[in-house]
Amino acid sequence: MILSHNLPRGNPPDRIAVRVKDKGARALRQGHPWLFEDSIEKISRDGKPGEVAVVFDQDKAVLGAGLYDPSSPVRVKVLSFGPSKIPVGPELFRKLCLEAKQLRDGKISADTNAWRLINGESDAFPGMVADKYADVLVLKVYTPAFIPWLGDIADALFELYPELRRLAIRFSREIQRMPDEVRFGLIDGTLLAAGSPAWDGAVQFLENGIIFEADVKSGQKTGFFLDQRDNRAAVGELAKGAGKVLNLFSYSGGFSLYAARAGAAEVYSVDFSKHAIAAASRNFALNGNDRNIAACKHFGITGDAFAVMNELDKDKKLFDIVIVDPPSFAKSAAEKDTAIKSYARLARSAVKLIRKNGILIFASCSSRICADELFEVVHQVAAAADRPLDEFSRTSHAADHPAKFKESNYLKCMYARV
Ligand code: SAH
Repeated sequence: MILSHNLPRGNPPDRIAVRVKDKGARALRQGHPWLFEDSIEKISRDGKPGEVAVVFDQDKAVLGAGLYDPSSPVRVKVLSFGPSKIPVGPELFRKLCLEAKQLRDGKISADTNAWRLINGESDAFPGMVADKYADVLVLKVYTPAFIPWLGDIADALFELYPELRRLAIRFSREIQRMPDEVRFGLIDGTLLAAGSPAWDGAVQFLENGIIFEADVKSGQKTGFFLDQRDNRAAVGELAKGAGKVLNLFSYSGGFSLYAARAGAAEVYSVDFSKHAIAAASRNFALNGNDRNIAACKHFGITGDAFAVMNELDKDKKLFDIVIVDPPSFAKSAAEKDTAIKSYARLARSAVKLIRKNGILIFASCSSRICADELFEVVHQVAAAADRPLDEFSRTSHAADHPAKFKESNYLKCMYARV
């Protein structure tokens, strides 16, 4: 495949042997793909990121194989379990990519051409995701262990999805700071395009028939929040005939477009990133052929959601639907209490802006706070503000975002009538 021609390809000279303590052996036997540094008893030699590590128990039985990562407490990202016949390499990547594809086959609607092809550890790629936007493949890497193999992984996906013609490589902040040789000279936002070298990273795609544009070179995550697709579709149903809809933390207006297409008269998108609000306006413009979207009055507000809510409250504005989809407030366990306070503050302000019988949609992507704990707080806060909630639905991960492990389960969303 020409596109991935210059990407690194793994060619491991010799493997690292890792002997683990009982704790690590137990985790691997249960199929857990993270081998922590403190579970390692002995290691044959130190290795570079992405070298193949074979993991043994105390009796020298093979527990699995994976990629070595000296930069992380998760020292080995385990890719296969037990004495696998397929060594870590192109053939294994092809097998894992195919399994991920089979999991999604038939689950994406015909008028959607953007979805997640590989969802990290839940698709046996601990520390990497792959998203597809029309003909663009985005590989987002969170551990340097995958970098030496990017060419092999890209080839496997190009083979399975022949419509792919362009490729973007995205790196986590940690990787961006790593030395050039660890990154194989690649930088965050590296773009490769077959036949159109002037590509700037903008790509148009369809989600349930709505046209969106993503910036895969420098947009948040891989350019769009694909994980909220089903919740956006649900908003499209709930917003039928709605008057005013408020979309807080809107990013590029995902929920807003669905509300507008459903016929909402006015939609407010609020985000503190001016790029996000500009993208939201562009996405409205792209859908000018849709009568409802063209007729909807869209207000893009660049600002802090908390401050904007105060202003709207002062102006005595009331909405039929308020969507709250903040970034993760709890990035570490230590931040959990402050995060819950922030969610509570958000919920308190949000319910005040909803008219009687209106709808609150409250999402969270903090894996450290579970749905029950979070939504209990939302209910309490709403009741205390004299806006008790009648919850009618609660959702979690979509089919293209499988969550196999407790740690992978981050997305939760509740729907309630006020
Ligand atoms: N609902 C969106 C995704 C939201 S991601 C979708 O469906 O695509 C969270 C967004 O919140 C990001 O765009 C980020 O820029 C924005 N954000 C973070 N903190 C904010 C704040 N205090 N006020 C307003 N926006 C904020």
